[in-house]
Amino acid sequence: MITANDIRAKFISFFEDRGHNQVHSSSLVPIDDPTLLFTNAGMNQFKNIFLGLETRNYKRAVTSQKCVRAGGKHNDLDTVGKTARHHTFFEMLGNFSFGDYFKKEAIAFAWEFLTKELKLSTDNLYITVYQDDDEAYEYWEQTTGFSSNKILRLGEKDNFWSMGETGPCGPCSEIHFDRGIKHSCSAPDCGLGKCDCDRWLEIWNLVFMQYNRDDKGVLTTLPKPSIDTGLGLERIVSIMQQVNSNYETDLLKPLINEVEKLSNKKYDQGLSGFPFRVIADHARSCTFLISDGVLPSNDGRGYVLRRIIRRAVRFGKSLGINNSFLYKMSPKVMELMKDSYPELADKLEFVQKIIKNEEERFQETLNDGLKIVTEVIKSLKEKGQTQISGKEAFNLYDTYGFPLDLTKDIAEEENLTVDTLGFENAMKEQRDRARNAQKDNQTWDIALTFAKYAGNEKETLFTGYDSLSEKGQI
Ligand code: ATP
Ligand code: MG
Ligand code: MG
Ligand code: MG
Repeated sequence: MITANDIRAKFISFFEDRGHNQVHSSSLVPIDDPTLLFTNAGMNQFKNIFLGLETRNYKRAVTSQKCVRAGGKHNDLDTVGKTARHHTFFEMLGNFSFGDYFKKEAIAFAWEFLTKELKLSTDNLYITVYQDDDEAYEYWEQTTGFSSNKILRLGEKDNFWSMGETGPCGPCSEIHFDRGIKHSCSAPDCGLGKCDCDRWLEIWNLVFMQYNRDDKGVLTTLPKPSIDTGLGLERIVSIMQQVNSNYETDLLKPLINEVEKLSNKKYDQGLSGFPFRVIADHARSCTFLISDGVLPSNDGRGYVLRRIIRRAVRFGKSLGINNSFLYKMSPKVMELMKDSYPELADKLEFVQKIIKNEEERFQETLNDGLKIVTEVIKSLKEKGQTQISGKEAFNLYDTYGFPLDLTKDIAEEENLTVDTLGFENAMKEQRDRARNAQKDNQTWDIALTFAKYAGNEKETLFTGYDSLSEKGQI
């Protein structure tokens, strides 16, 4: 069997042989880019080259980039485990041209790699192009010999790629793999570009980088048209290993097996295997995120990490695992990935300590929170209602440390929804209260400082208290 490591290596050497410089994956925490939560594509580390703000001594690059899509424009957190192909953490293989080759060569390289190097049969392959990109359409026609039944023109949603709300972007062409009729969904018009089911596996996106989008949404032409591509490693591995899910590949199956050992339960590829898949996925993302310097916290990147860990812990609980367990999966993640990402090995002990600590913290409130949520659900059902109120979701968040998406997961399992807007309002109200209290504290601090310098701390202290309470601020 061809391994994931073989495929990654084949990709790198294929493009090295064609004049590309191998560049190591950048960190999951984007350097100097506040517009981006986490590195979400191979092109991120080259953004300034595309924008013409930086030059390098090479015009072609090849990478295997670690990516996390769990927040911001590209957020797959809710999809993980439901589809066979979406992860929070995944690897994107990519070849890049910085003002060097353009559409024609990018198309030819991709086709050669898939059909000659990996020897994929063209029968299952389909192409999509941006609706009015006649040039790309013609190159695909010439390169593949396909006609309009296998080269589809799609709109902006599918075939215009943007990194985030701002930044480099452009029309794109994508290569898809048809897994066959047995993977069709129940939609009557199940088809490429029409539905999102696992039958139609998007494997490779070739982005024709031509524009920069500014914060007002205005597109300007980049100094030089460039190429940015992204081939999902887990997906191409699933095809090459002839399995029907990324979770069956040698990248993720060993992690599923770990969950089996920890829970003493058997994995099933169907619906009941959902918690196993989530845990396997989340073990990778939190191990990688912490080793790149992210720590659990209450906002920003750290809060996304906290949500990921807590979500895994709750799914662990649903498999009957009552103690800290997630940290026990990191050595396996390291073992599977260390050849490509040696940084994991150096940080393993630290990573495990952070995960264990976060798990233990959450274990303290998880059981009580679960009791509350069970009561809430019971009473909703008795009343024939279908939505957990924003106030209740906020209470679970505030008192029991349940991130909103965790409450949503639980609600979904019971065919209920959560009033997200109500949650946000409750959150805002609490923030406003906290802000006001802080203002009072600041006024108080000023009064204290003033009193100290005036040398009559006691008297002023008392006056200050009085005057503040008179204004109704405390
Ligand atoms: P999808 O439509 O399947 O969500 P995408 O269009 O969002 O994918 P791109 O932004 O085009 O993905 O990224 C390039 C490639 O990276 C995809 O073609 C796919 O192979 C891979 N990829 C994207 N998102 C994920 C993910 N969450 N998990 C695993 N691989 C992914
Ligand atoms: Mg997507
Ligand atoms: Mg897509
Ligand atoms: Mg895409």
